[in-house]
Amino acid sequence: MKIKNIAVIAHVDHGKTTLVDEMLKQSGTLRKLEEERVLDSFDLERERGITILSKNTAIFYKDYKINIIDTPGHSDFSGEVERVLKMVDGVLLLVDAQEGVMPQTKFVVRKALSLGLKPILVVNKIDKPAAEPDRVVDEVFDLFVDMDATEEQLEFPVIYASAKNGYAKLNLEDDNNDLLPLFETIISHIPEPSGSSDAPLQMQIFTLDYDNYVGRIGIARVFNGIVKKGMAAKVIGQNGEIREGRITKLYTFKGLERLEVDEAPVGDIVAVAGFEELNIGDTIADYENPVPLSPLHIEEPTISVFI
Ligand code: GDP
Repeated sequence: MKIKNIAVIAHVDHGKTTLVDEMLKQSGTLRKLEEERVLDSFDLERERGITILSKNTAIFYKDYKINIIDTPGHSDFSGEVERVLKMVDGVLLLVDAQEGVMPQTKFVVRKALSLGLKPILVVNKIDKPAAEPDRVVDEVFDLFVDMDATEEQLEFPVIYASAKNGYAKLNLEDDNNDLLPLFETIISHIPEPSGSSDAPLQMQIFTLDYDNYVGRIGIARVFNGIVKKGMAAKVIGQNGEIREGRITKLYTFKGLERLEVDEAPVGDIVAVAGFEELNIGDTIADYENPVPLSPLHIEEPTISVFI
């Protein structure tokens, strides 16, 4: 199975939740029972309002697993947007076909472009009577130019979608009624994760979670090596301090659920438990040969002082 790691970036209300929900349903990732549970958790999310912690979703399509890492749709959490974007190989930029580019669209686009990610533009809500999809594509292109996008980033594919009605098209005239063009574009356009299975283990924690049964859980991307349940490992903090530990539980994602596994390949997004202390930005590294990944810099200064 091959892996694609993406984030969906959007201004709030442009349809991120609806799109991911529909991708889950149409990919056949979920059995009927699971499907009901997904809807429940999305409803809960809506009640709580804004998403603060990143959620992870994995969608199975053909022989691919598409890990979708959620990003908060609020600029107060800029450090979190950045660290999520460092875990993915491409982004779906979702823009409302009527509203067009909004402040948060600009904020997340700037981050994604500066990290060198290749975006796929999804113009959503094309079913709205006042939708102007062509204008929105032009607006996004101009925004990219203003933000010094590379040639490659400027050649972004465009998908016209109605997440609510569950369809995506490559051309406005197509009368397609499913999301297959979107899945196919993700497969063809988003780069495969880099890294080597043979190299010493290196994975980086980008989100923390807690479970009453297993305790502290770290969500991480495997950048090198293969991670195995039961492995002894070194944990290297962002300040360079090294601790020892053992991976007692290992999970990958399926739909919105965590699935316990014995090992996970390079490139995958996993959850691990067993460590007394885990912090965002920590590298979980090979026991014999611990090499840290570059820090995630989660605290961002809001003002710069020049002396
Ligand atoms: P998020 O904040 O980006 O996660 O946005 P949601 O997925 O919660 O969607 C915000 C609102 O837009 C909801 O009322 C959705 O039903 C609606 N919506 C989402 N996709 C579409 C679409 O394709 N067409 C229309 N007309 N409404 C949509």
